Amino acid sequence: MRNKCENCGKCCLETEMILSFEDIELIKKNSIDNIGEGDFVFKNENEQFQLKNIDGHCVFLNYSAKKCKIYEFRPQGCRFYPLIYDISKKKCLLDDDCPRNDQFYNKKQSLKITCSNLKRFLEQQFTLKID
Ligand code: SF4
Ligand code: SF4
Repeated sequence: MRNKCENCGKCCLETEMILSFEDIELIKKNSIDNIGEGDFVFKNENEQFQLKNIDGHCVFLNYSAKKCKIYEFRPQGCRFYPLIYDISKKKCLLDDDCPRNDQFYNKKQSLKITCSNLKRFLEQQFTLKID
């Protein structure tokens, strides 16, 4: 296996990934196939920007190749994943939905740093109050 995500793409199925303004601008700037903002983003019921799905998967997933078409410019949340922040438990967790989650963030220090970055990202971008 060349990389941890090869031939997977599970987290890109029925994605609920939230996008920041920076994510949207970066994707637009590096637009592929002349894709416009309305083609990949919508406002969800919480008034947050969210990635669109098409045929059950993220608009940017090359389904047959199981590859992200905008890997270099993918949203920040996709970069943190499978690390997520559980608000009710007030802690970072490796999402059980990722079948290879035991292969990420194996070093304690890297997990700690990425968790701090994730919390800061959520606070700054989505004005979430995180202890
Ligand atoms: S992060 Fe996990 S679920 Fe997503 S593509 Fe990689 S291995 Fe699959
Ligand atoms: S942007 Fe890429 S990594 Fe993120 S959900 Fe879509 S296909 Fe997957």
